Amino acid sequence: MRSNKHTVVIVGYGGMGSYHGQLISENPNLEVAGTFDLLEGRRKASVEAGYKAYESYEEVLADPAVEVVLIATPNDVHKEIAVRALEAGKHVVCEKPVAMSSSEFKDMIAAADKAGRVLMVHQNRRWDEDFRIIKQMHESDTIGALFQIESRVHGANGIPGDWRHVKAQGGGMLLDWGVHLLDQLLFMIDSRVTSVSSTLSFILGNDVDDGFEAVLQFENGIKAIVEVGTTNFITLPRWYVKGLEGSAVIEDWSLTGRIVTRNRESEHREPTPIRAGVGLTKTMAPPSEGSTITAGLPPAAELPDGFYSNFVAVIEGTAEPIVKNAEVLRVQNLIEAIFAAAEKNEVIKDFDTYGV
Ligand code: NAD
Repeated sequence: MRSNKHTVVIVGYGGMGSYHGQLISENPNLEVAGTFDLLEGRRKASVEAGYKAYESYEEVLADPAVEVVLIATPNDVHKEIAVRALEAGKHVVCEKPVAMSSSEFKDMIAAADKAGRVLMVHQNRRWDEDFRIIKQMHESDTIGALFQIESRVHGANGIPGDWRHVKAQGGGMLLDWGVHLLDQLLFMIDSRVTSVSSTLSFILGNDVDDGFEAVLQFENGIKAIVEVGTTNFITLPRWYVKGLEGSAVIEDWSLTGRIVTRNRESEHREPTPIRAGVGLTKTMAPPSEGSTITAGLPPAAELPDGFYSNFVAVIEGTAEPIVKNAEVLRVQNLIEAIFAAAEKNEVIKDFDTYGV
């Protein structure tokens, strides 16, 4: 009996391609029809996992039973694989970063529009609980209006794998992790970016950045510091967020964290000066007893659907995508502005050119 599930072929059956196999199996309306990978070893792994291994990409495109192409290859070939799939009448889910440049992504969007097929980018970290807690704090003013957001990921393992070291394949940490952190910020903050400054690090001697720091100013007054490092043997918190009524910290993905807010009920009392180092300070002394309230992290903001259930609803025409291509394009433009700011050692303010 023919299944009513939408059929997906995973192109690029490496680390993330295999993970998509698991994610797809968790959705009752999708099934993996097979995989295609250039490497014989990965085709063998596919068969061992119980998936048909297509021998060529042409064979995938020519198979009328395939409705969706999922792209989990290195970044430099996303565009070509996507455009060919769309032209063959398939829907496409593409891994992040969607492309090497905004101009490549515009070609992909044009191909999707022309074919009348869905192109959706797997910006999965919009669903991360740590991010959704910060989003909820922002939306409900838990610590008052936010004025600074620091979003960091730190590792001590250098750049992993092979192609991630190669510029021509879209390697480097700004494209790899930066795209997630920037996507989260632009998804959460409903305001234009008015300036960007940045530095890239090349500590490990690759021709791609092994980390970066970018400072973004939003029109609504929020400043964001985004940092990725791969030589950090002690990590800084995943999030450090300041609002007019308090501060919040989320240490890691296991959601260790707290919020500390001003206690509006307590009478104002001057803090007692403390000895700090060899000096004395009142400014940097802890707030006086009772003047602040420490609490656990608030609940996370909900998204209307999961990534794949939303994708199914989009291809069935019953929902709008949660990850919209216009949003992804804005992030791609911002990445280009961050590269330019680092290269020129300038604060970029020309956002009509960059479209952020
Ligand atoms: P990987 O190196 O583990 O796997 C890539 C696979 O693609 C390899 O098996 C390779 O042989 C195959 N491949 C290369 N060119 C191909 C082509 N033209 N046709 C078919 N197969 C081809 O890489 P990865 O870590 O799985 O990353 C793949 C993609 O997934 C990248 O775009 C990466 O940024 C993204 N990714 C996303 C997340 C996330 O959380 N969203 C996490 C990891 C990786």
